[in-house]
Amino acid sequence: MKIIVADKSGFCFGVKKAYKMCSGCFGGLFETLGPLIHNEEILAQISEEGGRIINDPSESSGGRVVVRAHGISQCRYAELKKRTSDILDATCPFVLALQESARGFYKEGYSLFIVGQGEHPEIRSITEDIPSRVIFSEEEACAVGFEDRIALISQTTEVEDKFERISEILRGKCNDFKSKNTICLDVRERQKSAVDLAKKCDVVLVVGGRSSSNTRKLHMLCSKYARSYHILDENEIKKDWLNNCEILGIVTGSSTSEDVIYRVRRRAEEMV
Ligand code: SF4
Repeated sequence: MKIIVADKSGFCFGVKKAYKMCSGCFGGLFETLGPLIHNEEILAQISEEGGRIINDPSESSGGRVVVRAHGISQCRYAELKKRTSDILDATCPFVLALQESARGFYKEGYSLFIVGQGEHPEIRSITEDIPSRVIFSEEEACAVGFEDRIALISQTTEVEDKFERISEILRGKCNDFKSKNTICLDVRERQKSAVDLAKKCDVVLVVGGRSSSNTRKLHMLCSKYARSYHILDENEIKKDWLNNCEILGIVTGSSTSEDVIYRVRRRAEEMV
């Protein structure tokens, strides 16, 4: 059995930056606003190194707080500043660009729509500040009533085709339509490399956290071309998945470390 790891794998730029910032706090007491990344092993390490997860600024003890790559709304940031002056902001630049686009369209007077999941922290970093509507599916886009001006942006981890289809639907629902594809570059490249790989493989292991939006989308995309399984780590691989598998692909979400990729690869090799 041949094993190929997708060209684009391991931590994305934003996760690397957030982890580096957080690791600078190791050994002292600090808090992260929400789990730093979708990776249980890294979260356990952060906890061992003195990190505590808080879910709301009101839970801050007044010490150092790390804001994760997903970012937070300006209103929550202001609340946090009232509690502590020691804030390390690891918001990913792609998320900052998304927030900026949202503010820009809103100021121009457009009704703002966002393709994504309403409860995702990145989306909440916008909806808590700016009146906007979140669209998850084409069906939801079809149900939108006629408006004068509509602007559309996207969660950074969305799938490009879906964004384009929803754009076309909403374009027909208004007099003046604007859109900005705010899907992050890393996500686009990762999705493309996952699809390219899945087309060559019999089986694909998609490695990443269960709550990782980008990993779930990679799994959905790979499933169109090969038998695909979403796993957390090497312990979840089942031997019978590898029956009659000549080429096995390994694809990862943006919070999966090189170490996990190595262990998944090694375990798969041992199983055949
Ligand atoms: S997936 Fe993209 S937007 Fe999200 S943290 Fe990584 S680089 Fe930033």
